[in-house]
Amino acid sequence: MKIMRDETHDPALTSWVASANAAGSDFPIQNLPFGIFRSKGGLGHWRGGVAIGDHVLDLDVLASDGLADPQAHEALQAAIGPTLNALMALGRPAWAALRRALSSGLRVGSHERPRWERAIVPQADIEMGLPAEIGDYTDFYTSIQHATNVGRLFRPDNPLLPNYRWVPIGYHGRASSIAVSGDSFRRPQGQTLAADAEVPVLGPSRRLDHELELGLFIGPGNGRGVPVPIDDAEGRMFGLCLLNDWSARDIQAWEYQPLGPFLSKNFATTISPWIVTMEALHPYRTPFVRADGEPGPVSYLDSASNRERGAVDITLEVQLQTSAMRARSEEPVRLTSTNFSSSAYWTLAQLIAHHTVNGCNLRPGDLFGTGTLSGPADGQQGSMLELTRGGREPVRLPNGEQRTFFEDGDTVIFKAWCERQGAARIGFGEVRSTVLPAGGSA
Ligand code: MN
Repeated sequence: MKIMRDETHDPALTSWVASANAAGSDFPIQNLPFGIFRSKGGLGHWRGGVAIGDHVLDLDVLASDGLADPQAHEALQAAIGPTLNALMALGRPAWAALRRALSSGLRVGSHERPRWERAIVPQADIEMGLPAEIGDYTDFYTSIQHATNVGRLFRPDNPLLPNYRWVPIGYHGRASSIAVSGDSFRRPQGQTLAADAEVPVLGPSRRLDHELELGLFIGPGNGRGVPVPIDDAEGRMFGLCLLNDWSARDIQAWEYQPLGPFLSKNFATTISPWIVTMEALHPYRTPFVRADGEPGPVSYLDSASNRERGAVDITLEVQLQTSAMRARSEEPVRLTSTNFSSSAYWTLAQLIAHHTVNGCNLRPGDLFGTGTLSGPADGQQGSMLELTRGGREPVRLPNGEQRTFFEDGDTVIFKAWCERQGAARIGFGEVRSTVLPAGGSA
């Protein structure tokens, strides 16, 4: 089922939750992202919610009344928690029915308002959990600029390997260390080999980096041995979040050949808690175009609809707040501003078609990372490795501090939003995580 532009996308719609109508709100009534939450302080049970302005609609409370439309009602029952996997498994018709019902009930003038007001909770009173039980996590490498920048640092004579333009490169990541925004984690230790040394040493990583990525949550899975054709891939996409693929570059440089990243990546991945659905992103779909001279994809990675609307226009930003800045109540500073559509060499549909072409089965709640979304221009690099040219040119912060890679106490924040004439601005909220000193024990 194709997503159609409908009344839920009307930029003139407003909500009786007043904060949703504020200019610049990430969560107007046209967005309606899903997440899992509980009351602050670990109180209450984990349950499904939908962000609306600076509040959340508690789907568990809503479910006690139910919804009139049977398909929307079924979807609501699948969304009450403690994970969203059951909702993700239902597929596009159910998601669209629930979106229409939520949009209608939250709208100014809705007769549901007196009953639904009981289900509205301030976001200040809640804490967010992981939105799904993530069975498998795959991280891709979709930005050719990132692949070239990193390749140049690791292999100056041979930056971009010849398979890059044909194969959407990825690796299987680790789901156990995926955490939600607000997470703090210990600086990883590992083996590194100094430039002038012959023997590696064990110690804390000294080149701890972020990777600016989007996360894609998979909806209905495919059977083992049954590839997903590219034109069915859209129906397998539930929605997107922000994803920080924390990376230890010194550990990576020593371990990555011949089998790719391992301990340099699997200690921490942080995601934003609200999943912005593909329905909400519909007004921001754009043509997928390759620069002149780039080869066309192999046929299973190509289709007319992928060329017409395969890309998504999302602005992405990275910010840093050091512990010194926090102590002086200084605002975070921006390190990077880029865009998904101008960074990605592959579309989300191509990632799904490629991942399943060999018969690999995806399951509801699986997570894909796009890979670091570095744009073509200066200031659009999605990692410190690239921003500092491999650590050789430190980033100077307004308060006089400088960084090549992250220090203990640094908080890294990603934000993202979509803005376009004729559509309501929608945002992703943020993902933030803080580096703690190495050490400690279980
Ligand atoms: Mn990555």
